[in-house]
Amino acid sequence: MIPGRIIERKRDGEEIAGVELEAFLRGYLDGSVEEYQMSAFLMAVVFRGATDAELATLLEVMIGSGAVLDLDHLPGPRVDKHSTGGVGDKVSLPLAPLVASMGVFVPMMSGRGLGHTGGTLDKLESIPGFRTDLPLDRFTAVLEEVGCAMIGQTAEIAPLDRRLYDLRSVTGTVPCIPLIAASIMSKKLAEGLNGLVLDVKVGEGAFLPEFDRAIELARTMVRLGRAAGVTTTARLTAMDRPLGRAIGNALEVEESIDCLRGGGPVDLRTLVLELAAEMCVAGGSESSMDRARSAAARALDDGRAMEVMERMVAAQGGDVEWLRDPSRRDVAPERREVTAPRSGIVARVSPLALGHATIALGGGRRRLGEAIDPRVGFELAVSPGDEVRAGDPIGVVHAADESSARAGARALESAVVVADERAPVLDLFLDRVAG
Ligand code: URA
Repeated sequence: MIPGRIIERKRDGEEIAGVELEAFLRGYLDGSVEEYQMSAFLMAVVFRGATDAELATLLEVMIGSGAVLDLDHLPGPRVDKHSTGGVGDKVSLPLAPLVASMGVFVPMMSGRGLGHTGGTLDKLESIPGFRTDLPLDRFTAVLEEVGCAMIGQTAEIAPLDRRLYDLRSVTGTVPCIPLIAASIMSKKLAEGLNGLVLDVKVGEGAFLPEFDRAIELARTMVRLGRAAGVTTTARLTAMDRPLGRAIGNALEVEESIDCLRGGGPVDLRTLVLELAAEMCVAGGSESSMDRARSAAARALDDGRAMEVMERMVAAQGGDVEWLRDPSRRDVAPERREVTAPRSGIVARVSPLALGHATIALGGGRRRLGEAIDPRVGFELAVSPGDEVRAGDPIGVVHAADESSARAGARALESAVVVADERAPVLDLFLDRVAG
């Protein structure tokens, strides 16, 4: 295998045979293919795409580069959920304990904030003491004991993906459907799952905003999952506005607790119930979506889901009293209410603007490894379609100091557009891909 020839052939649109591609990828792992050669190859994939056979090889080598969990000993199905990410998307926090309370094991490995989107790990880490870096044996023990466990991708899982992702993030090769699909699925398929539910976001605040690209990604990932013997379903859901009312790490945990107690915003509850139903059906513990939705609603409303959340937090070193008692939670020192500048109808609440504004407040990262302030963010008081009068509250900024509160207030004012007429919004559920 001559690396330069593989790059040239991919550049010219030729399919690279399985053995050659495997040798090239393994060469990258052992150092005989250089970083600059892999960068050029990835760019060729961005322009030429990947055939199904190439994608299968890439996925197989990514998964095989690390550990694959063997969870066959668990006395129930194992199902996970992955979201392509958005603003205010805290679904994993109520969803994992909810589904575990319904008898399905949820081994969840999540990520940190990426670009303008928040990340589950950052949200969980606003719970004092909560450890997202458990070693795999402890992760499995919590899973067995509680029914769910939530950690970050460990160094043992799909290390080829980790190296390729780091390289892609600095070589302009992230937005490429086959590379995204292989990257996401390599981590999920290493979790030893029976079922997987994908929440692929569509709209301004999504990673791939256009519906056509999002559904192509969904179809690609569902195909890869099913080929690996994992029942995989994708839902395409709205991200043309933030999900729920809270944006910012600790604020989102708080909203997740409300949801786990049977309350919280309707859009969040509806999405959590729907994805919980999909997970139970994918795992085979429920036979119909209708029955599964009702069972999930009961588990939220009668406290079972919250009880599992408390047990998971305790098992992962977190402070359960912090969850139970709002007065123990550290709040941002500056809070500033923002009001509607005029009367009318809320035409738009921009998730992209609010995602960037949350980073500016210190609630997300500008550089890899930067510390974040879990207390800061936004609490929205309105959604698209709401009528407001001039002077009505549209939201509250939570900030670390006076000047960032002022900047956050300006950002919130321009993210919420009040107009004379209602503007079209996406349905929460846009499509479903089930192989
Ligand atoms: N998330 C991932 O894990 N990988 C990608 O390539 C993009 C988003």
